[in-house]
Order: sequence, then C-alpha cells, then structure tokens
Amino acid sequence: MSAGPAPRVVLATHNAGKLRELRRILAALIPGFDERVVVSAGDLGLPDVVEDAVTFDGNALLKARAAARATGLVAVADDSGLTVDVLNGCPGIFSARWSGRHGDDAANNALLLAQLSDIAEEHRGAAFVCAAVMVDAAGQETVKLGRMPGQLLREPRGDDGIGYDPLFLPEGQTLTSAELSPEAKDAISHRGIALRALAPVIAAALA
Ligand code: IMP
Repeated sequence: MSAGPAPRVVLATHNAGKLRELRRILAALIPGFDERVVVSAGDLGLPDVVEDAVTFDGNALLKARAAARATGLVAVADDSGLTVDVLNGCPGIFSARWSGRHGDDAANNALLLAQLSDIAEEHRGAAFVCAAVMVDAAGQETVKLGRMPGQLLREPRGDDGIGYDPLFLPEGQTLTSAELSPEAKDAISHRGIALRALAPVIAAALA
C-alpha cells in the first residue's frame, strides 16, 4: 500500500468555515493543491495560538509562524474581520469574540445588530478585511491584504457563508454574502482578493 505524498502545506486555522474557504479558493488557483498535500492545524492537533497582535497581518503571522515552526512545512494563515464605520473600525481584530465568547457567531451578530439598531441606512457602511500570509520553511514571510466593502442590514438573510455574512450586503450586490454562491463570494471577497495575490507565492514555494 502506498503511503501517498507527504503533506507540504499547513493551513494554520482551527475555524472550519475559514478552512473550507481557504481550501476552496487556493485549490482553484494552484494545481495539485488538495488534501494529498494540504493539512490543517486542526488535522495535526496543533494548539490554538494566542492572537495578541493588534493588526490583522500581525495575528495572521502569529498563526503561520507557529504552524511553520511546529511542522517544518510551508504555512498559510489568514486573519480577518469586519470593520464597521460607525463603530470606528470595530469589531476589527475582535470580530470572532465581539460578544465575549470566541467563535459564537449568533451572539456576535445579535450584539452588532443591537448596537446599530438606531443607525440609519446611510451610516451602516462596513467592510470585511483579510490579511493572508505565507511563511515558508526558511522563515521567509509574505503578507497580502484584501477588502470587501458593503453595508450592514437590519436582519440576517441567507444560510450559507460564515460569521457575519448573513448581515452583510457587499457593495453593488443584491444578495448578502450568505446568499451568494461560494464562487460568487470568492470572486469579490476580502479572502478571495488576498489569496489570489498570495497564490503565486505559494505556488512558487511548492514548485
Ligand atoms: P479570525 O479567525 O480571528 O480571523 O476571526 C475572523 C472572524 O471575523 C470570524 O469569526 C467572523 O466573525 C469574521 N469574519 C471573517 N471573515 C468573514 C467572512 O468572510 N464572512 C463573515 N464573517 C467573517
């Protein structure tokens, strides 16, 4: 029985929704980028990293550096969040734990809606932001950024997507990012933009 190819890339996230998007976007861009060579931090039982940097790229680098160090593989990570104009850029780096409990999407969304309940349409601007990073086996670091502007609705719409997607109407769209098809979201999303910029660097590291 063949053992198959050894893993070459670790995706440094424990978030199942983000992992799905990272795999989907990169697999469409990099030939051979599939489960045979790509493992996740969760698959390997790597510990969660304390995200104590104060920027998206700082936190993404913490995750990728830790995974590269633990595995000796090329590590790819993203850190992302929602910046809301009227909240002066919050939740920002606190997006995953805005309600106090890390990863409680329903509570985060409910709190955000309550905070904006009196805010008129013209002041409900927001953007998703993503820093996608790669750390290679030699410790070389690459950072790429993406942004998807839009507006926050008054109630959730759509069952697909992750996190704040049901509340977010991307600029120029009639569907929320939880109603768009995965391909349509990837084409305009913060994560899609950042990963499309990072993909050639990952491909070169694997060549
Ligand atoms: P991270 O795992 O620290 O990067 O946290 C990202 C958080 O930002 C997630 O828990 C979501 O709440 C939010 N977020 C990031 N990207 C998206 C997206 O594409 N849609 C909806 N929410 C997102």
